[in-house]
Amino acid sequence: MPKLTIIGTGLIGTSLAMALQQAKLKDLEIVGTDSDNTSRSGANKTNAFHRVENRLSNAVRDAGIVVLATPVMAMQEVMEVIADDLAEGCVVTDVGSSKKVVLDWADQYLPRHVEFVGGHPMAGREKSGPENADGNLFRDKVYCVVPSSRASSRAVSEITNIADAIGARSYFIGVDEHDSFVAAVSHLPFLLSVALVGCTSKSPNWDDIAQLAATGYEDSSRLASGDPVMHRDICLSNPEPIVAWIDSFIKELYEVRQLLNAEPGPDRDSVHDVFEKAFVARGLWQAGAVNQAFKVHQSQLDVPSFGESVGDFFGGGLARKAIQSQKKLFGGDRDDRSGDR
Ligand code: NAP
Repeated sequence: MPKLTIIGTGLIGTSLAMALQQAKLKDLEIVGTDSDNTSRSGANKTNAFHRVENRLSNAVRDAGIVVLATPVMAMQEVMEVIADDLAEGCVVTDVGSSKKVVLDWADQYLPRHVEFVGGHPMAGREKSGPENADGNLFRDKVYCVVPSSRASSRAVSEITNIADAIGARSYFIGVDEHDSFVAAVSHLPFLLSVALVGCTSKSPNWDDIAQLAATGYEDSSRLASGDPVMHRDICLSNPEPIVAWIDSFIKELYEVRQLLNAEPGPDRDSVHDVFEKAFVARGLWQAGAVNQAFKVHQSQLDVPSFGESVGDFFGGGLARKAIQSQKKLFGGDRDDRSGDR
């Protein structure tokens, strides 16, 4: 029976095993292993794995597919350790949040008789460990697929088949694009959350301020409750794109600061414009209409015909508001960074 081994039976590894079990793939043995005894016994209790092995070498031997689901910085050592036990033709993949370092390690440490295809499910939560695993975690989510330069179409298909089986959507992307775009929408958000908690909780008045913190603070600070090891490893493995997006965020915030600090006082329309643009941009993203917006911008179509399609998503007054704002937003002052998407 073909064997699929998951190294790291935490949140993502165990969720993947659960999702594969739910897919009821015929004749697939799902084996787990973890360096942490508690994670191994937690994973065992979920029944998501046919077997949870103590020894890494036993877990990967004869496996057709090996999935690395440890924190990113542990993957280098894991690759070094498993290299000699990997079977001919084995496809190795990962679920790590940074891709360049992982692809470089795969090239350096994995033997030539195996193939590496990077992966990254764009799904997760701020809680770690197998006890928080969820077999539906990946449903309808994007699954980034980043093949190594030596990966064959067979190896790539093995990974897209996994994505299909767990209800995710494969999304092919280059390694540099992945690391930059994910820094923008995943790594920057948790750093902002951490910075928010840092700046508020370090205030000498925090004990009083904390009494007033309600849902807005809770929503905006949620990601600061993520596993510190995972966050540390993401930052260590993807520093340059993260720094670029931090700079961009500081610039954005500084512009708002300057507007509010203007003499003889903030300009009402300019301040309103900041929130209007963000309101519309987020609405388009939530409606899945960002691509449409850029197509319209590029082909110079009339704004009303674009609004008709966006109106399906927004409805009524919100649609009108979006159209008006789109006229301003795409009227020539588009930020260069928006071309990323
Ligand atoms: P997790 O719940 O902490 O699970 C990781 C597991 O790997 C832990 O049990 C950990 O044990 C174990 N481990 C650490 N070093 C190991 C080693 N050398 N050999 C074997 N096992 C080892 O973390 P997670 O949230 O599942 O994240 C796993 C990966 O998924 C990370 O690379 C992360 O970037 C990626 N990812 C996470 C999310 C998310 O939202 N959580 C989303 C997408 C992708 P210890 O507890 O002893 O360290």
